[in-house]
Amino acid sequence: MRADIVVLEGDGIGPEVTAAAVQVLQALAARYGHQFELQRHLIGGAAIDASGEPLPAATLQACQRSDAVLLGAVGGPKWSDPKAKVRPEQGLLALRKGLGLYANLRPVQPHAATLGASPIKPHLLAGVDMIVVRELTGGIYFGDKQRSASAASDLCEYSVAEIERVVRRACQLARGRRGHVVSVDKANVLETSRLWREVATRVAREEFPDVTLEHQLVDSMAMHLIAKPRAFDVIVTENMFGDILTDEASMLAGSLGLLPSASLGEGKVGLYEPIHGSAPDIAGRGIANPCGTILSAALLLRHSLGLDAEAACLEQAVAAVLDAGVLTADLAPAGEAATTAQFTAAVLAQLD
Ligand code: ATP
Ligand code: MG
Repeated sequence: MRADIVVLEGDGIGPEVTAAAVQVLQALAARYGHQFELQRHLIGGAAIDASGEPLPAATLQACQRSDAVLLGAVGGPKWSDPKAKVRPEQGLLALRKGLGLYANLRPVQPHAATLGASPIKPHLLAGVDMIVVRELTGGIYFGDKQRSASAASDLCEYSVAEIERVVRRACQLARGRRGHVVSVDKANVLETSRLWREVATRVAREEFPDVTLEHQLVDSMAMHLIAKPRAFDVIVTENMFGDILTDEASMLAGSLGLLPSASLGEGKVGLYEPIHGSAPDIAGRGIANPCGTILSAALLLRHSLGLDAEAACLEQAVAAVLDAGVLTADLAPAGEAATTAQFTAAVLAQLD
């Protein structure tokens, strides 16, 4: 197949980790006879430096016309003056909005070789395989905000349509997995959560009779996520609960550098990026872990291009490299670490 992929390297280690993922995508294209047209564009701090804007119109247009977008990371100390009018992160928020992305998927599958790096006991982690689906466009982040001298408020709002589409996405995902969805809310306290629970129950019952839906309150979910992580398949939740639970879930894997994410909307164009930031403290040294970005490329193949076999092949290659003990500095004992280039070369060799 032919696919247009926009590559947004971004800032800090962004160019290093996206370079790794691009090599891997090109190798897969050659192996399976696909033609991937990769087009680079600016976002974040790099875009501010070049044009004064964190998301230049040319970048947004290229992304909207593409089949998928692969992003490194944005931001860094150079652009972090709190008084600055334009900030790199605004570029990412505007891009998500411009592409209509409402579901953020974060798979968490700790690998045997990296279990020791997690603060959770290894025997609880073996076999963990979950995806958290976080709603991305509604909730308290976007509700009306008020401030007086003595008080402040943030409105939390959800429409039926916003809940339906993200729950539907979670149930579709569960169908291709173990068929189990846990919907997380705070229905004992919040009206938006009572609506969330009603809508989730109806969508699952009417459209996904083959999927089991269970409800959990967010506070007990925070506990179960650590106490029995193996129990979860797909977790779906609103924006802020998802923000908190995905950071918690990321600790199951051992390093920020390992985890990928996909942000999806109604159309097929999705945004794929590692969950970590631009890591300015290690940028330019060739030691960043490219795993999260390479695995984001696998999600791109699966969700935007429908190339399931290629995605699985790539995920298996990464797992095999980790199992062989090729680990970057965030995971390896001092002196034994692979560089970004060495890790990438090992994945490429595995793909051959
Ligand atoms: P942001 O605000 O952009 O999310 P952050 O404050 O969460 O960024 P990161 O940039 O993700 O921070 O970095 C947090 C720590 O994790 C840093 O010490 C960084 O070096 C490390 N880190 C992040 N990503 C990687 C990676 N891919 N490989 C190795 N270390 C990483
Ligand atoms: Mg962060």
